[in-house]
Amino acid sequence: MKDPIKTDVLIIGAGPIGLFAVFELGLLDMKAHLVDILDKVGGQCAELYPEKPIYDIPGIPYITGQGLVDALREQIKPFGPTFHLGEMVETIERIGDPLFRIVTDCGTHFEAKVVVIAAGGGSFQPKKPPIPGIEAYEARSVFYAVRRMEQFRGQRLVVVGGGDSALDWTLNLAPVAKSLTLVHRRDAFRAAPDSVNKMRALVAEGKIDFQLGQIAALEGVDGRLSAAILKRDDGSLLTLECDALMPFFGLTMKLGPVADWGIALKDGSLIPVDTATFETSEPGIFAIGDINAYPGKLKLILSGFHEAALMSQKAYRYVFPDKKLFFQYTTSSTSLQKKLGVA
Ligand SMILES: Cc1cc2nc3c(=O)[nH]c(=O)nc-3n(C[C@H](O)[C@H](O)[C@H](O)COP(=O)(O)OP(=O)(O)OC[C@H]3O[C@@H](n4cnc5c(N)ncnc54)[C@H](O)[C@@H]3O)c2cc1C
Repeated sequence: MKDPIKTDVLIIGAGPIGLFAVFELGLLDMKAHLVDILDKVGGQCAELYPEKPIYDIPGIPYITGQGLVDALREQIKPFGPTFHLGEMVETIERIGDPLFRIVTDCGTHFEAKVVVIAAGGGSFQPKKPPIPGIEAYEARSVFYAVRRMEQFRGQRLVVVGGGDSALDWTLNLAPVAKSLTLVHRRDAFRAAPDSVNKMRALVAEGKIDFQLGQIAALEGVDGRLSAAILKRDDGSLLTLECDALMPFFGLTMKLGPVADWGIALKDGSLIPVDTATFETSEPGIFAIGDINAYPGKLKLILSGFHEAALMSQKAYRYVFPDKKLFFQYTTSSTSLQKKLGVA
């Protein structure tokens, strides 16, 4: 086992609330590492609505989902958070008082005095197509996300779907792949019109192929795909020889491993908290943002920001049990301004 990464606070989830928690913790001298399953920060704002406008962030009349994420990243820069992206926190174990061991699905170990669960609606999971036996090919020949384009250089690829992910990856992978076939059940797309036009141009130039229909079966040995069988509306079948299949059917949110962390849950998916501190039933473990539940809770970004501020006050007592905490304003405290790098 590798040496654990030691930190004051481990934040599970790098959505807007996990990001803002870094700021509030940082003002009180607490260092944070963040883990997120996604390969980028920003949670729902970045993954589900990066270009949509948000109108109810206090003091900011209008900002897009991605714009808010970018602004939060800028705001927390002085506190130098460390991100562990593309990793899912699987287990939390109490090993001291207060000390927790946290382990991800990539085998990264952390030791933290405080754990902050900012896991939103849980983990984003790919919607899977109903193809018999597809599980046997997953992670070897069937991929629901592209982490490294180079992995697919020189391969025969079949991309399935009609949304932005399917079209974006079609355009990005076309120059890398030996051949690429886009499959969609109808000749109309939800993706951005510009991407659709570019895809049609590649088809017209003979650089990629487009087929109407659905993948009905897979052929291969030991998880290695040799062909995907396309079924058209008229029932006819077409064999598409390929090395990899990439279904992009969007994401759903599932609670994931949060349910196994020994914390009392409400309605099976939300974490009840004390609204003075946003601490869970487990001392030293906090829950902020969309994942928590309390009377009157509103799943709004501004609520999560408030929760992060109060959580940090209590977290301080675990991280610095012998120190007294003084309330200060960023406008007038030179000490806070020094931490922010502006004094
Ligand atoms: C279409 C849409 C529009 C919206 N518009 C508004 C609006 O106008 N105003 C507003 O205030 N709110 C809006 N919201 C709600 C807002 O986006 C959420 O309240 C906010 O994203 C919650 O932030 P969060 O950080 O708590 O959770 P999330 O944004 O869900 O982030 C949680 C993160 O935790 C990660 N995670 C989960 N489990 C694990 C694990 N086990 N290990 C590692 N990482 C994990 C996830 O991958 C995710 O990135 C909107 C939501 C949607 C879907």
